[in-house]
Amino acid sequence: MNDITPLVKTITEKCRTCYTCVRGCPAKAIRISSGQAEVIKERCIGCANCVLMCSRQAKEVRSSVAEVRALLASGAETAICLAPSFPVEFPELDPLRFAGMLKNLGFKYVTEVAFGADMVSLKYRRLVNENPGKKYISSACPAIVSYIEKYHPALAANLAPIVSPMLASARIVKARYGANLKVVFAGPCVAKKDEALRHPGEITGVITFRELRELLETAGVSDATSLNAHFDPPYPSKGVLYPIGGGLLTSSEFEEDLMSGKFLSTEGLENFTDALRNFEHGDMDADFLDILCCNGCLMGPGMTTKSSRYSRQASLRRYAKKSYHKIKISDWEDAIQKYRNLDYSTGFKPEDKRITPPPAAEIKAILERMGKPVPEDELNCGACGYQTCVEHATAIYRGLAESEMCLPHTIERLKTTAKELASSYGQLAKTKQALLQSEKLASMGQLAAGVAHELNNPLGVVLLYSHLLADQCQKDSRIFKDAQMVTEQADRCKKIVGGLLNFARKNKPFFKKTDLRKLVDAHFKGLPVPANIRPDIAHDGAELDVEVDPDQITQVFSNLITNAIEAMPAGGSLKVSTFQQGGYICFSVTDSGTGISEENKKKIFEPFFTTKQIGKGTGLGLAVSYGIIKVHKGKIMVESNADIAKGATGTTFTVVLPRQTAEVRQ
Ligand code: ADP
Ligand code: MG
Repeated sequence: MNDITPLVKTITEKCRTCYTCVRGCPAKAIRISSGQAEVIKERCIGCANCVLMCSRQAKEVRSSVAEVRALLASGAETAICLAPSFPVEFPELDPLRFAGMLKNLGFKYVTEVAFGADMVSLKYRRLVNENPGKKYISSACPAIVSYIEKYHPALAANLAPIVSPMLASARIVKARYGANLKVVFAGPCVAKKDEALRHPGEITGVITFRELRELLETAGVSDATSLNAHFDPPYPSKGVLYPIGGGLLTSSEFEEDLMSGKFLSTEGLENFTDALRNFEHGDMDADFLDILCCNGCLMGPGMTTKSSRYSRQASLRRYAKKSYHKIKISDWEDAIQKYRNLDYSTGFKPEDKRITPPPAAEIKAILERMGKPVPEDELNCGACGYQTCVEHATAIYRGLAESEMCLPHTIERLKTTAKELASSYGQLAKTKQALLQSEKLASMGQLAAGVAHELNNPLGVVLLYSHLLADQCQKDSRIFKDAQMVTEQADRCKKIVGGLLNFARKNKPFFKKTDLRKLVDAHFKGLPVPANIRPDIAHDGAELDVEVDPDQITQVFSNLITNAIEAMPAGGSLKVSTFQQGGYICFSVTDSGTGISEENKKKIFEPFFTTKQIGKGTGLGLAVSYGIIKVHKGKIMVESNADIAKGATGTTFTVVLPRQTAEVRQ
């Protein structure tokens, strides 16, 4: 047997993040790491409750099948000691046929552990009678023994120093059939596997009933292939009742007297931890505590039957009654007499595995990280597998648990992440829109540049000849006036073409260090603002040096001011601001005019888009401004409200320019 291998391990591929095993583990011997459950060997008491609770069958018990198969194949004389719960596991088989099958499998002797239980009961009775006033806890259940040694080390001294029925049986069969006999124990218990390891040489193998079924099946042994055989003596008496909770009290003839409360029996995960805590605190007046980890051994994890606890008890009682009536009391007494002087004593040594509580500040810090800064936030919902948030935080501190196990905390985080995702999705959609817009404008710019370039030369010729024509005529002649008209209109065309080239960024800018405040002041002061418009200028005080082409930026500024004034035919307020934001230098122009409808907002930067009368607007102001700001690697943004129902109408254009342009402009 390899004592390095843990009794129970997780099949990682099957394990899902449900924490059922954490919740069901009385020893808190399960570590969750990266969402996977791992059984910690040193903390495990072998109750295998995690195996029973896992709905994914992701927990595996260390198997002894191969070992026992090899033992039988070796030809060594071997006895099988059957735990008293066997009639519950194999109700379909007549006990005599079952004994025959086991002999067929290769066991020379088939004996019942229940006789060992009878002997142990006798020893318990004597122990209690000889030590009045001393408080004892039964030591028949190996998971309970392990739990006490690890988590109530002070109670190890109260464990009855008597071997378990399994070990008592092994000693008896060896005394009867030979010291070299190999003994295999078969039962419903997983913890017995580790108990056997602590007594080397006494028990060669421990198999669960599930494993015994596997052995029979793989060897092709069935009731059809086997004959009836007798169990080998010694035969038991009331020890057959051990697997029912309180069975030890009955067979030891300790009456559970309500008045004296001297003897008390309790079983099951929900009760035993509580009972031991009370026993240790001295809250219990019982002198003898008979305690089992499972709800009676017949509910043990090594059983395959799915029947209810009560039907299992009924089935055991049926067998007990039958076998009790069959035994000859005198034979039983002789056997007891014969083996009562063997050594049934044992000892226990505490190995403290209790978790010392971490410093309060550490717990507080962990709870805060889980979004529980005040005690009211501690919901103690148990979803993590721990009863309280503080227990969970303690386990995190000791590296046994993760903060993600906290369901309310994880849900909260998921909600935040979903919100963040939604907001970045919105941001992405906006950026996509802006990208589409700038792509559209870029291709329009290309087209405009092509047309403008082609028109520029013929326009020059038209201008030249119209000037020549005007020079050649009388100043008051009609042809002179016509030639002048041609010159004027051709000039206008030239300006438009120039604007188009600007929009298409074909005009090379000349950058120089400029104080934006001065630039804005110089232009704004010389501006003819209509009397019904209140102008206002605000600088945020700091120096606003920026590397730009001052002429081009003045042009942008002028276009924005002109548009603002034209949007307020009935007057209003016009505010110009300069400021800085991060590493950027900005200016904005705000008016209280008509505003821009949502529909038009998408089009205003397109060349030739205008809502103004023919001859009044060219639809190039914003297109050109856009081109200039792009060349400066800046941004031009608009905010506007045209719907009086939503509040005061008006528009703000903001221009953002990088302060250090040289490297940004690469
Ligand atoms: P134009 O001024 O020649 O019409 P622009 O490119 O300067 O061309 O402007 C395009 C259109 O954008 C304008 O016709 C107008 O509809 C709208 N617009 C621009 N600025 C404003 C503003 N401050 N208030 C309202 N509408 C504006
Ligand atoms: Mg304009």
